[in-house]
Amino acid sequence: MIKIKENLCSTKYFNIIYCNDDLEIGNFIVNNIDNFYIRLCNDFKIEILDNFNFTIIVANSIDDYINYTGKAKSEYKTWMVGHSNLKTRKICILSPEIAKDYSSEELIQVLKHEIVHAVFDNYYGTEENEAWISEGVALLYAGQIDLQYVEEAIPIEKNPR
Ligand SMILES: [Zn+2]
Repeated sequence: MIKIKENLCSTKYFNIIYCNDDLEIGNFIVNNIDNFYIRLCNDFKIEILDNFNFTIIVANSIDDYINYTGKAKSEYKTWMVGHSNLKTRKICILSPEIAKDYSSEELIQVLKHEIVHAVFDNYYGTEENEAWISEGVALLYAGQIDLQYVEEAIPIEKNPR
């Protein structure tokens, strides 16, 4: 039995697939993802698309994750916990049940990161020269940059004379 098919929910902009072992993170995504998408689009003046229609999958096994990302088994590395694919319009994250080194909060950050990529890829295309801005925005928007660390590492003179 493929557990993941247990829950398929549709919001206005996304389909979300998750199994009963992932009810908590699945319900959280269902309840919050549209607002995240709308805020992201508004902040970057990107058109909100009624047919955005990406599918988010919470994979409950490494095999499911590899399957849904479309990667080869040999390409998989243990740090790979999130993936976005413009062609298949699928975003896959690994379940907190499986990615034991990550908390649910960190995996939500990973999901936000991948949604930024999905929105930017969809809007700007996937040309190599656009990748760096997508990556920077994804890190910042998902809260994966420690701003205090950046400030300490790169001291900026606040009041230059
Ligand atoms: Zn990224």
